Amino acid sequence: MNETRTEIASLGEFGLIDHLCKNIEIQNASTVLGVGDDAAVIDHFGKQTVVTTDLLIEGIHFDLMYTPLKHLGYKSVVVNLSDLYAMNAIPTQITMSIGLSNRISLEAIEEFYEGVYAACNKYGVDLIGGDTASSQKGFIISVTAIGELTPGNFVKRSTAQKGDLLCVSGDLGGAYLGLVILEREKKIFLESPGVQPDLENQQYVIGRLLKPEAAKETIEFFASSGIKPTAMMDISDGLSSEVLHLCKQSNVGCVLYEEKIPIHNDARNVAFKFELDPTACALSGGEDYELLFTVPQADYDKLVLNENISVVGYMTEPEKGCKILTKGGNSFDITAQGWNAFQQ
Ligand code: ADP
Ligand code: MG
Repeated sequence: MNETRTEIASLGEFGLIDHLCKNIEIQNASTVLGVGDDAAVIDHFGKQTVVTTDLLIEGIHFDLMYTPLKHLGYKSVVVNLSDLYAMNAIPTQITMSIGLSNRISLEAIEEFYEGVYAACNKYGVDLIGGDTASSQKGFIISVTAIGELTPGNFVKRSTAQKGDLLCVSGDLGGAYLGLVILEREKKIFLESPGVQPDLENQQYVIGRLLKPEAAKETIEFFASSGIKPTAMMDISDGLSSEVLHLCKQSNVGCVLYEEKIPIHNDARNVAFKFELDPTACALSGGEDYELLFTVPQADYDKLVLNENISVVGYMTEPEKGCKILTKGGNSFDITAQGWNAFQQ
């Protein structure tokens, strides 16, 4: 750990921006002009431009007690890229705006930017601007992400069809279980500081919360195998609420099979340790940043070639509602809080 503490005020706003942005190397031909002028210039050369933005507030969206700043920088970029991938777009640029309280030193914000640049490099996006201001209380982060796609190739939430297969990428519930662990450790620490945390065998779920990845490979797989989902969105709030959004906006119903919901073994084990139902964690936990999408049945043969994709159900007439079929063979309505039977 770097123990020095340099006050941001000693650099001034321009000095800080200069310091944070001095090593930027542009990666995309579409970035015509980046940091340093009144605005950036982008040319997507006939492609369509996709834009999304997110606001993250300390104490609401993250807790600095257990969130390393480098991970926070990484995650604040990734959650925005996830929204672009959910449109079937390829991310190209981001802007990063920050509100800094005087609790945050230069060293701390440098660490945050290390995470930002790690995500930019991993996903091939350019940081092309932002804004810097002071905040009375708490750290505030606003990221805007810009991407491109072939005209008309975007995938909306509202176009799923009856008979389509309902699919998810990756696995679900892990980030929520990471949160459960870290909240427990925080409580223990506040009650008896000095007690060492027991985080053994829990790296996977903690990593899912603190350093999520966006579904880049899934989008690349669609492109290379000629799949265009009929509808798509990212899973930031838990599977059940996202399935309900997709069904409502597409005016269809669905059947979701409990046994098909992908849950990592480590997540399952942590759930059992905390006496939680793994399925309930996948349905109601948030922040997994996987993709939820539908494809025509004809694409099934192509889909199964990808081990990272699970077919979890299918779409029905709207009159049939949104149902989950349990391992025991019972059918329940899907509710936004998950599946009621789990909450008893
Ligand atoms: P303005 O006064 O027009 O808001 P600024 O002085 O805030 O301009 O910004 C100067 C340049 O630095 C601009 O290109 C802006 O986009 C960029 N910039 C400002 N803050 C950040 C930041 N936190 N991260 C990255 N770029 C930034
Ligand atoms: Mg400014």
